[in-house]
Amino acid sequence: HSGFVAIVGRPNVGKSTFLNRVVGQKIAIMSDKPQTTRNKIQGVYTTKESQIVFIDTPGIHKPKDKLGDFMMESALSALKEVDAVLFMVNATQRRGAGDNFIIDQLKKLDRPVYLVINKIDEISPDDIMAIIDQYKDALQFKDVYPISALQGNNVNELINTLVQEL
Ligand code: GDP
Ligand code: MG
Repeated sequence: HSGFVAIVGRPNVGKSTFLNRVVGQKIAIMSDKPQTTRNKIQGVYTTKESQIVFIDTPGIHKPKDKLGDFMMESALSALKEVDAVLFMVNATQRRGAGDNFIIDQLKKLDRPVYLVINKIDEISPDDIMAIIDQYKDALQFKDVYPISALQGNNVNELINTLVQEL
């Protein structure tokens, strides 16, 4: 039960927060500013019988210039080497162009994708279905996990699933 898992999503959806919680030590740069994380930062989750290497994948958005182009290419090539992808979205925002751009990239990738709806601590449980609905035609998701990376809700369940399926 081991493998590489990439986390993708728009800036500020909570990728770094998730990584920090899962690996139990601060390894990713946390910031309220978009696109602060310039590098792929890997966090390792280890138990006696499993090991998951998480890859923080910022920079998947429509490139505006040559640097953006380069960052996007490098982010996408990293994705080709992973065993699974966590596509993280913000429960407090509607599906937008940034999400759609990432979805288009993930469609070209032949990897299992999990939809991770983060920040559920900020919405009412009744609204979770409406968010899932917004993404149901986007991709064939392997599974859907509403979580709070900040407070920890459902994070262990997601990790346990990954450990079992890798
Ligand atoms: P990234 O750009 O995707 O890496 O996002 P960050 O992890 O840097 O998080 C962006 C902001 O969202 C920070 O202020 C986090 O504290 C906040 N955040 C992350 N996860 C959660 C969550 O589950 N609930 C709430 N309420 N805020 C969160
Ligand atoms: Mg980050």
